Amino acid sequence: MIDTHTHLYYPEFAADLNEVIARAQAAGVEKIITAAVDRATAEQCLALATRYPGVVYAAAGVHPSDVSRASEDDLLWIEAVAGDPAVVAVGEIGLDVYRGETNLVEQEAVFERMLELARRAGLPVIIHHRAAGTRTLEIVKAHGITRGVFHCFSEDAEYAKRVLDQGLCISFTGNITYKNSRLPEVARTLPLDRLLLETDAPFMAPVPYRGKRCEPVHVREVALKLAEIHSVPFDEVDHVTTAAAHGVFFAG
Ligand SMILES: [Zn+2]
Ligand SMILES: [Zn+2]
Repeated sequence: MIDTHTHLYYPEFAADLNEVIARAQAAGVEKIITAAVDRATAEQCLALATRYPGVVYAAAGVHPSDVSRASEDDLLWIEAVAGDPAVVAVGEIGLDVYRGETNLVEQEAVFERMLELARRAGLPVIIHHRAAGTRTLEIVKAHGITRGVFHCFSEDAEYAKRVLDQGLCISFTGNITYKNSRLPEVARTLPLDRLLLETDAPFMAPVPYRGKRCEPVHVREVALKLAEIHSVPFDEVDHVTTAAAHGVFFAG
């Protein structure tokens, strides 16, 4: 398994990150991508990739909820660091109007700049699309982006199909395991080889850990849920989603 989306630099992991990584590896998690939300966290992601070589990889970008705090210097720094071999994606980037944000123009400007960075650097993108799905996909299409993932997927099956048609993959977090979630119905309609696993740790812990700190070992619960939804063995979900993640992030 590959946990394609975490935030390992959160204070929640400060005390026991070695154990967290070891637990994940013991459960069959071979790689973990840790995604930045701004320059400071991108620096932390790179430090973690150095600390756990061959296991932890970095994504560098500016999260839509952090664009207002990002200076021009920060953006230039992120553009420069995209060439570092430990950086396997531009992310997380996108749009978020979940709390009625009014800075959509600013969010779109930074998002578009990050998409162009990905194109220039030949990197895949990790897209956040909370409450702004339609506009997010329009912008991705307008920039001709065809490699990456819509993470923490929250839209419907019709939208998911349009994401796949654009060439990108979809990943579900632990929220696919929540009672009354409509996401299993969405996942059922999608081919397994276009789905990636993620936790978004320390957030979104799957059942039966809901409400606790989420960590990469919990990606197993997401894989088990997909196995149940697709009526296939766990090993098949493991192999197929790992191959898909390799294709997106580690294809060279
Ligand atoms: Zn996100
Ligand atoms: Zn995230």
